[in-house]
Amino acid sequence: MGIDVWQPRTHIHGQSTSVNLVEMDDNWDSLEADIAQCTRCNLCETRKLSVFGSGNKNADWMIIDDTPRQSDNLATTLLSASDLLLTEMLRAIGLDRQEVFITNTIKCSPRGNHEPKPSEIEGCKMYLLRQQALIKPIIILALGVVAAKSLLGTDKPIEALREKSHTLNDTPIVVSYEPAVLLTSSLDKRKAWSDLKFAIQIIKNKR
Ligand code: SF4
Repeated sequence: MGIDVWQPRTHIHGQSTSVNLVEMDDNWDSLEADIAQCTRCNLCETRKLSVFGSGNKNADWMIIDDTPRQSDNLATTLLSASDLLLTEMLRAIGLDRQEVFITNTIKCSPRGNHEPKPSEIEGCKMYLLRQQALIKPIIILALGVVAAKSLLGTDKPIEALREKSHTLNDTPIVVSYEPAVLLTSSLDKRKAWSDLKFAIQIIKNKR
């Protein structure tokens, strides 16, 4: 398929020059509790269960989807057909689903699956930053306009952001399409393959 197989890094986490985004005593338990109890935006009023994320908490790859959908099983993320598609794409580059950490930009599903408001995106951003600081990934995949807006502070469309190297606190970010979009667009799916190869090349260049 022309996709390189991912080779995990051998160096130890924590050697990044990133800005320290979390308190020294931050940890996964307190982060999960903060999200579960969060009232930073009005989505807490309709929250059934927050979506924390799942996967390897020491992952090289942190993958950030847009928003959880109310039809999803909120105990995990990116389920259903779009989850299966992403899982297959990761497998094609040699990554098992459990090797990466997958989460959502917004931790509580918007009522009626509406597009998140700027206040909701901004309210939840600190949790992404805390997750980034705990995981210390070597690359972030931002999948969708909401993820890109949160991480990069831009309203530009995916087309204008993909195939470019962005960073957040020294961590490279590759922007691509939301998995759900890929289910209905074979053209975008081909572009998403290209984006994965682009991400691998960025990592190779860092080494
Ligand atoms: S969406 Fe994020 S900011 Fe809003 S209540 Fe849920 S966890 Fe808090």
